[in-house]
Amino acid sequence: MALYDRGDAAGTQSAAWVAAAMLAPLAEAASAELLITELGAASLERWPGFIADMPEPVFFQRNGTLVVWHAGDRAEAPLFERRLRANAPSALFQNGFVKLSGAQVAAAEPSLGTRFPQGWLLPNEGQLDNRQVLNALGAGLAERNVDLHWNTTIDTPPDAHFVIDCRGLGGKPAWPALRGIRGEVARVHAPGIGLMRPVRLLHPRYPLYIAPKQDDLYVIGATEVEGEDMSPMSVRSALELLSAAFAVHPGFGEARILELNSQCRPTLPDHRPAIVWDGARTLRVNGLYRHGYMIAPEVADSARALAEALLGGAITDPDSFDDWRGRARWSALLRCEHAAPVL
Ligand SMILES: Cc1cc2nc3c(=O)[nH]c(=O)nc-3n(C[C@H](O)[C@H](O)[C@H](O)COP(=O)(O)OP(=O)(O)OC[C@H]3O[C@@H](n4cnc5c(N)ncnc54)[C@H](O)[C@@H]3O)c2cc1C
Repeated sequence: MALYDRGDAAGTQSAAWVAAAMLAPLAEAASAELLITELGAASLERWPGFIADMPEPVFFQRNGTLVVWHAGDRAEAPLFERRLRANAPSALFQNGFVKLSGAQVAAAEPSLGTRFPQGWLLPNEGQLDNRQVLNALGAGLAERNVDLHWNTTIDTPPDAHFVIDCRGLGGKPAWPALRGIRGEVARVHAPGIGLMRPVRLLHPRYPLYIAPKQDDLYVIGATEVEGEDMSPMSVRSALELLSAAFAVHPGFGEARILELNSQCRPTLPDHRPAIVWDGARTLRVNGLYRHGYMIAPEVADSARALAEALLGGAITDPDSFDDWRGRARWSALLRCEHAAPVL
């Protein structure tokens, strides 16, 4: 078995390297549909098992998401709440949405004090350290004697028995409908603030999150701009992200900027991930958009199961693909290029 990647072993060429790696299916319901939030909720339960199988430690936290807003932006709150109710599985919302008074916000996240008159705690959500995941995955592959070819660009499929193409936006030549949605994040070191969980700030123009990782590291993001522009972060984005963080906690004024990063989220027209069998020896897995970490366990497992069915002879043609797909949990993700279009 072999893996080819045009980037290095650390994953620095990927959207996965830049991401904040929040596992927040309920908070994401503000802009994601039910399929995505269901995938996210199921995946969140599986991350601890995935991490336990990795040969290196990975920071994983399930301490919830705190949502706050400044008094002037309170009109954003009911809209956000309505979207969560509409787009999240009802059990996720019922068991995972707690309204907080200002005093309760201060109790939940003491470093914010009484700065916010209200907030919501989504207590079940998680996050992890994306770069530790990438390192641990690479180490796991090496341990399993996978033939690793870093810094190797693939333009035409290698002559292999079976190919899984998961090149993100780099897979666009084989999948022209893919597009990039640019995202920018800052990484800062801010000792002494001590946020205990990701904080999301509702804002009409630039909604913001601050995701605390280990050792006083914070990922502050993220912009969402149509286009495949991989150039460095703009001054406007840096000003917006950093001033919004400063408004959440003035301690960010003394933070040290470690990185200002930009990358593009690989996105399909319906903003859903897809696993496509080309009818021969290739599976394409793509379109993870802004939810790659949040939904990875279930998407990867669906791709693995489909690959096994193809390699094991359970699927041989579009008809047997359709039968198999009908029994799959996440059938909405699965397509066969030469079958009738899947709705
Ligand atoms: C700013 C930002 C914040 C994000 N925050 C979150 C978050 O909080 N939670 C969450 O769940 N998701 C988040 N995401 C989304 C997540 O990062 C993506 O959904 C995910 O990384 C997509 O995974 P992928 O493997 O398809 O693509 P990528 O991560 O881009 O990986 C593609 C890989 O393919 C390789 N490749 C590309 N072309 C070729 C080629 N021709 N030959 C060989 N190799 C190639 C690349 O080097 C790369 O390693 C965020 C993304 C961004 C940009």
